[in-house]
Amino acid sequence: MTMDISNTRKLFPILDQEIYGKPLVYLDNAATTQKPRQVIEALSDYYLTQNSNIHRGAHYLAAKSTEDYEQCRHRVQEFINARHSHEIVFTRGTTESINLVAYSFCQEFLKEGDEIIISGMEHHSDIVPWQLACGRHKAKLKVIPFSDEGILDLETFRGLLNDKTRIVAVNHVSNTLGTINPIKEIVETAHAHNIPVLVDGAQAVSHMPVDIQSLGCDFYCFSGHKMYGPMGVGVLYGREDLLDKMPPYQGGGEMIKDVTFEKTTYNELPFKFEAGTPSVGDVVALRYAIDFMQETGIENIAAHEQSLTRYATERMMEISGMHIYGTAPDKTSVISFLIGNAHPYDTGTLLDKLGIAVRTGHHCTQPIMDRYGIPGTVRASFAVYNTREEVDTLIAALNRIAPMLM
Ligand code: PMP
Repeated sequence: MTMDISNTRKLFPILDQEIYGKPLVYLDNAATTQKPRQVIEALSDYYLTQNSNIHRGAHYLAAKSTEDYEQCRHRVQEFINARHSHEIVFTRGTTESINLVAYSFCQEFLKEGDEIIISGMEHHSDIVPWQLACGRHKAKLKVIPFSDEGILDLETFRGLLNDKTRIVAVNHVSNTLGTINPIKEIVETAHAHNIPVLVDGAQAVSHMPVDIQSLGCDFYCFSGHKMYGPMGVGVLYGREDLLDKMPPYQGGGEMIKDVTFEKTTYNELPFKFEAGTPSVGDVVALRYAIDFMQETGIENIAAHEQSLTRYATERMMEISGMHIYGTAPDKTSVISFLIGNAHPYDTGTLLDKLGIAVRTGHHCTQPIMDRYGIPGTVRASFAVYNTREEVDTLIAALNRIAPMLM
């Protein structure tokens, strides 16, 4: 059963428009979700009535902005069930959160000859920062392989762990395959060797309840714009004792206690990692995105998306030449596919002309494309406001364009 989302959908004014004379069908949600009215209004209200820099003003607006900014930190803490609000660091997004850890954690803990383990289905932003760190410290990157269905090979993972491994980084959900990775098991395995785990949660937080303490991971990263919030804000959750030991990532205002030309002492958590003026308005509006998800019910969102994904997958498999990449039993609402030998860009362009927004290409996961020996895929991804009728529109469009492409 899909939930009745007509009221939810009304909160997203952007969806109510035509593209090339056709109703917009927005299926590019894994790239970024649309924002509900309350998030857009919170952002515009902030600039219309409240804009002020935080943490150091003696005036009313500065105090109000500081309060709202810090309130969002508590809201995020609650949302992912972190132990302390000072374990929540605001960043620009998942990419910056991972870069922060890859730089700062490795600065403290990674030495020549050490190893870092990532998975073969990581987004480039969970590959390149670790490669950079390995380059700086003369360390080695090891990769967990995955099966044709898109399931991580945990047996091989166990074999990769050794006394040189310093950190494991893996995504909670693959943005290309949709696979939900068994984070709890990965964390337990790594922790048995005293190795911390960073989880890239960019594709998870808007699709399932995330409980940091239950997952047991040491770092968790996500972006506001993929969870109905604004662009320009992201979150790094980090375990207090690790964040405490890690040196600052960037230097500047806010992250210091005392500065002389001889020596600087650093501010306490989380400010040590928040140098300079943050995107205050985006953080303030992020709270409304969390409210939206919790009021809708994350379980309801998940059930609705699962139902759409199952329906779309069944209908797509009826199309001749259809191949779906990522068929793990545990997956979110991402469907990556190719039709025959058609280039994904051609499929995407034809769908666009019919008003349907999908993403084409390697989705910042070139190693996944290499694994399958393909140039890229077409990716349709669903969010809470998508409907069964929109899936029907996608299927009708695919049925119409498939013969042209084969
Ligand atoms: N990791 C995953 C799994 C993603 O899907 C994305 C965004 N496509 C990122 C990281 C990077 O997120 P951002 O661009 O918001 O920093």
